[in-house]
Amino acid sequence: MAKEKIHNKNTLKVNKGVDTPTSVNPNFTDKFANKFKKEELTVQQYLKGIKSGDRTTISKAITLIESSLQKDKKIAKELLNNCLPLSGNSFRLGITGVPGAGKSTFIETFGLFAVKQGKKVAVLAIDPASTRTKGSILGDKTRMEKLSAHPKAFIRPSSNAGTLGGVSRNTREAMIILEAAGYDFIIIETVGVGQSETAVAQMTDFFLLMLIAGAGDELQGIKRGIMEMADLILINKADGDNVTKAEMAKQELENALHLFSPNVNEWTPKVLTVSALEAKGIDLIWKTLQQYIELTKENGFFVEKRKNQLLQIMEESIKQKLIEHFYSNNNITKKLRYYKKLIEEGKTTPYQASEKLLKLYFKKNE
Ligand code: GDP
Repeated sequence: MAKEKIHNKNTLKVNKGVDTPTSVNPNFTDKFANKFKKEELTVQQYLKGIKSGDRTTISKAITLIESSLQKDKKIAKELLNNCLPLSGNSFRLGITGVPGAGKSTFIETFGLFAVKQGKKVAVLAIDPASTRTKGSILGDKTRMEKLSAHPKAFIRPSSNAGTLGGVSRNTREAMIILEAAGYDFIIIETVGVGQSETAVAQMTDFFLLMLIAGAGDELQGIKRGIMEMADLILINKADGDNVTKAEMAKQELENALHLFSPNVNEWTPKVLTVSALEAKGIDLIWKTLQQYIELTKENGFFVEKRKNQLLQIMEESIKQKLIEHFYSNNNITKKLRYYKKLIEEGKTTPYQASEKLLKLYFKKNE
């Protein structure tokens, strides 16, 4: 009898003899099944887990904010509002560079250095274009193996590819959760081939561009705009036969940087060589970051930039809501199709059409 009871608790039914077992045990009751149902946490449970630094809960919370389900959005909003007062105490470092520059090798080496300095390190990736395989920038497990196993580190692969706006919003919100969880060093990685670097530069305190010493023109392929955004340019792979080449590239870049107008934050962008693989030059990068923090905290830029970022979030959030509201109106979407057709047929201009649609929208919401 007792044995029978134990059997009933298994989802698999084992039949005696030659009977073909069905895969699911008919005695597996709903009540029992509920135990295995994906557990939905309350805001308080999320908060408790986040505050205690529980990585599983942090992961779940980030999945929650990425969800597009209406019921998840509601909890996510409440959770973020609760996390916001606990956030803001980290250093946010953005890293960009072309694939193969050595970003993940660097983040692993640098992250391990930072945890040794007593920091809790989190790594997030932005990859809306899904430039790597299977939509995940950090998808392959071998990336940052040691760092991801470290108890003081948290690594989150990029969520499924989406629009840049959506991915940036998710990253910003994930940052709030991570800060509430006590991560004091947040690294945001992006592949330097799209527009995501601007988004990353806007949501971080410090922007790092990673290059490798190539043959000849060091600036090739890197847009001037990205160079101008960088607070620090690293020439990676300065090891073995590459050391001299890296030093030359450093000189070249330093000369190029002099041509740019001075930064409002009074910080002069630096160029350093590094070997992420051999962990050479890491301490100097660390010192450079400390100098930056000291300078910008003293001259007020650090706080100013953070404030501007908050204002930007508010504005983006308003824009997003307005757009959603506009396109969720059935009448508008119907008319939108109609006007699209008129434009295609050359019967109206895009300006006239948008004006008509907006008039209709505002009239509806008066
Ligand atoms: P990512 O695409 O920018 O993340 O680049 P990875 O970190 O995956 O590195 C690309 C390749 O460059 C890998 O084979 C690394 O082992 C190698 N690599 C990265 N950093 C260094 C370095 O400092 N020196 C040398 N020699 N190779 C490196």
